[in-house]
Amino acid sequence: MKDDTPNRRIPVGISACLTGQQVRHDGGHKHSRYCTEVLARYFRFLPLCPEMGAGLASPRAAMRLVEASDEDQPRLLACRGDQDFSAPMAAFIERVLPTLEGLRGFVLMAKSPSCGMERVRVYSEQGTVSRRDASGLFAGALMARYPLLPVEEEGRLNDDALRENFVERVFVYDDWCRLREQGLSARGLIEFHSRHKFQLLAHCQARYRRLGPMLADLKARPLEDIADDYIAEFMAAMACRADKGDHINAMLHLAGFLRQGLEDADRALIHQQIEAYQRGDVPLVVPMTLLRGAQSKVAQPYLAQQRYMAPYPDALGLRNRL
Ligand code: SF4
Repeated sequence: MKDDTPNRRIPVGISACLTGQQVRHDGGHKHSRYCTEVLARYFRFLPLCPEMGAGLASPRAAMRLVEASDEDQPRLLACRGDQDFSAPMAAFIERVLPTLEGLRGFVLMAKSPSCGMERVRVYSEQGTVSRRDASGLFAGALMARYPLLPVEEEGRLNDDALRENFVERVFVYDDWCRLREQGLSARGLIEFHSRHKFQLLAHCQARYRRLGPMLADLKARPLEDIADDYIAEFMAAMACRADKGDHINAMLHLAGFLRQGLEDADRALIHQQIEAYQRGDVPLVVPMTLLRGAQSKVAQPYLAQQRYMAPYPDALGLRNRL
């Protein structure tokens, strides 16, 4: 799964029906063109169908989750006839999860009793809906085994803010995984924190303030332990969506670093466009482009490393819609 070519695509898992594979219970698919035609330019998708992996065919009986009074986990039953597929699904999950360690994200099909990330229905044995707060069996096991992994449902990628947040998390998590693959060092950890500081500031100020002190004394505990605690807090911070006020705060901080090297007119234009973004007249990309232009003139060394300036490829156009 390792790919070190310069234009490497990031390995990301995906429910196979979203790639157009005809693996659904009705013999069809749920092709997501956004995934296969846009994200696939940057993500190397690994398609996976848990139900086919569990040995079922397509077409097959539709499934649902049914509450099991004697077990923690609901059972995976056919909607008609109550045939129980829990055991082959459990065996598939046990077999496949260890092979997914190299993934940097996962796009799941919503509502599925196998793939749904959240709000999946669970039925009582009498056939009524008893709750709507479950995850599909595979999705739940995936998130439990890899709690840092950015996971999102395909339908939620239609929301501009959720889409941007997911893609940004995949890129930062990939950066972290590459750091770990190269071998953890105190210097690597400090540099990672440094280059993501403005992203943290934009996503969660409270966690931003906690994360710095976690790295203040890297000899206080084993480095592995510090790194594990750090990245759990870091990924939780990145999962908080940055709203307009958060981006304005981060951009004003950036502008402050650039103040010395700019002419009055350049500074005024940046502030005008931050205000225009605040009013909703222009998208985030407008003031950010001015700040990037200013940075290319000033070459402020601390800002040069900030991933907030360009967290993912511009061609994705994600900041055009924020
Ligand atoms: S939702 Fe999951 S289990 Fe169902 S067809 Fe798609 S990939 Fe297969």
